[in-house]
Amino acid sequence: MRMQDELNALGIDPDRPLLISDADEVLFAFMEGFESFLNSRGLSFSWASFQLNGNIIDDRTGEAVEAVAVRSLIYSFFENHTRTIAAVDGAAESLQHLGRHLQIVVLSNIWPEFRDARAHALRSQGMPYPIIANRGSKAPAVAHLASLTCGPVFFVDDIPAHHRDVANLAGDVVRIHYVANRRLAGLLEPAEYCHHHACDWSGISSYIEGCLGMTSS
Ligand SMILES: [Mg+2]
Repeated sequence: MRMQDELNALGIDPDRPLLISDADEVLFAFMEGFESFLNSRGLSFSWASFQLNGNIIDDRTGEAVEAVAVRSLIYSFFENHTRTIAAVDGAAESLQHLGRHLQIVVLSNIWPEFRDARAHALRSQGMPYPIIANRGSKAPAVAHLASLTCGPVFFVDDIPAHHRDVANLAGDVVRIHYVANRRLAGLLEPAEYCHHHACDWSGISSYIEGCLGMTSS
């Protein structure tokens, strides 16, 4: 199905606010799981910067793994661990709470073949929201989803480039930067193009409720 048809088929209510949430490092503890996966294969993450390429080190040689091998490691991680990856603390509870005020869609840059496993992981951890498997920039999908509702639209993601793209294409969308892994977050300068930087899901909830004129409870 074409991306726009897939988004139209979500049945977005034009009168309700919408939250578009990323998955890895927002709803799922990607880095924690991926680092354990690397360690089990004699590799480690150097924590030198906010990217995988160049920072995955072969413990035997001390050399960084080449980009093409990094890609296949990431693929193998998703192939083996997407169904069982741990949720981020507070994510399910906060979404359940926010769900009283808004509709929720998960927009994840995951290979389409792992979409169903990701949907399973969401459901089994109390987050039974529709999941869209996107590729590349998230801005076109965010802009299209935003066009389907009159209510305020919120976008949560860990990758600064997605916030920049969304700011350029759908400037009215309220952009919240959140990196669940605090060590990983520490490797980034505060992202530009964001309205808010959150440290945890309770902060995301309070911020959104403030924007909607609700009080936290
Ligand atoms: Mg992410």
